[in-house]
Amino acid sequence: MLIGGEWRRAAAGEEIEVVNPATEDVVGSVPSAGTQDVELAVETAKRAFPEWSATDVEHRAGILAKAATLIEERAKDLAATLTAEQGKPVLEARGEVTHLAHGVRFYAEAATKVRGAYQDLPSAFGPAYGMVIRRPMGVCAAITPYNFPLTLLGTKVAPALASGNTVVAKPASTTPLATLEVARIFAEAGVPDGVLNVVTGRGADIGDVLVGHPDVRRIAFTGETGTGRHIMGIAGPQLKRVTLELGGSDPVIVCADADVDAAVKAVIIGRYWNAGQACLGCKRVFVHDSVYDAFVSQLVERVGRYEPGDGTVKAEKPKLRMGPIHTRKGRDELLAQIEDGVAHGGEVLIGGGTGSGDKGFFLEPAVVAEPGDESRLVTEEVFGPVLPVFRFGDFDDAIRRANDTPYGLGSSIWTHDARLIHRAAQEIDAGMTWVNQIHYGYDELPFGGVKDSGFGKEHGIEALDSYVETKSVVVGGLG
Ligand code: NDP
Repeated sequence: MLIGGEWRRAAAGEEIEVVNPATEDVVGSVPSAGTQDVELAVETAKRAFPEWSATDVEHRAGILAKAATLIEERAKDLAATLTAEQGKPVLEARGEVTHLAHGVRFYAEAATKVRGAYQDLPSAFGPAYGMVIRRPMGVCAAITPYNFPLTLLGTKVAPALASGNTVVAKPASTTPLATLEVARIFAEAGVPDGVLNVVTGRGADIGDVLVGHPDVRRIAFTGETGTGRHIMGIAGPQLKRVTLELGGSDPVIVCADADVDAAVKAVIIGRYWNAGQACLGCKRVFVHDSVYDAFVSQLVERVGRYEPGDGTVKAEKPKLRMGPIHTRKGRDELLAQIEDGVAHGGEVLIGGGTGSGDKGFFLEPAVVAEPGDESRLVTEEVFGPVLPVFRFGDFDDAIRRANDTPYGLGSSIWTHDARLIHRAAQEIDAGMTWVNQIHYGYDELPFGGVKDSGFGKEHGIEALDSYVETKSVVVGGLG
């Protein structure tokens, strides 16, 4: 773990083994932090705060820019670590590292563009003017999940550091290795000791200590809705500042005039990238009756090109590599969801098997036609390469079904009809609607969910707002 610039073991000396989900081999081990370690990390970050927050913002921006460059230079090694611990194919791991570097550079550039405000004031108490200034919050906790360990670290650490905060990051206990490498890079780029700390350990053991620590003023969490609720339960009474990026069940509406070919290609990426383990993803697709058959046959043909396997080994063209599901438990859950979909009238058009190998948590990517609305494929988040598809005739019905979920993260519509685009933008309950575009989280745009998908924004200039407190200052005595 990295605490105060030192690479440390856990006080209790315990370790967690990190397992490659494709081979089930142990690829490393990290300290299993306990309460004492977390407290030390928070105290260290608290001590580092006054000096870091007073640092010239251009200096902070320069350090972040250097970190982005170093990440780009080390992309190959970082991607290899990511593939080994997370399972995603090397190509996808490279994509994640590129996204991380882009995000860190975005906040390096944004840091120096943040402005406050000036306000004329009535002179009832003598001439005065007001200012709205922004002050960093202090120690921020950054808690990340296993599916995109690096980009989701960047969306928290970069705006936090850019704004003058210090950080204690906690990666998922199954994917800590690439996070530690990135922390090393930040240190090399010039982040002072104690400003960015990483504690490795199980959320069940140390999550409550980190979240509940009175000196942690801001919590940025990405993960499951249930964990988010739990965190909120601890942070709420302490009135901490929290952003929760939680689960999703993004609807996709493919209209009669859609470019079916483009829609299928986008849905393939949106559902099967990262073996479907994405918060933003095409998780329920509603296709207009008139293009349903064309859409589904193209979809099934393309899904058939995937070959689940070890992410370090390229598939032979025209096959495409898909990595394993991250854990055995995650794969079992997906199998149970498919089975439930079938029990509720769904037809598996392709996939759903576990392959013939005896190692690795593989799942053949699946398409399930028309599972009933009560099936788990509809009512729950499906966190893997399994896609339910549905017909619709009436657009009102498509919108109603799109919204018939506890989640509200992303959504998309495929049409060139301006009225339908307008309706989707206005009527779908989600943090984001893409029009004729894949579900992708741009660094430039604020992103976050509604309903059970959480609240608060990451990405965009707006994310910087959530790492500062605004303060009004009245200046009088002017004459
Ligand atoms: P989890 O909620 O299981 O874990 C996320 C992180 O929280 C991990 O670091 C975990 O540690 C930690 N954690 C667990 N318990 C606690 C606790 N009591 N207090 C504090 N931290 C704790 O999520 P997954 O890793 O399974 O990630 C998948 C989920 O993340 C999906 O639901 C997905 O939709 C969502 N997600 C949302 C995104 C968004 O932007 N909205 C983006 C990406 C994913 P440990 O690993 O040790 O258990």
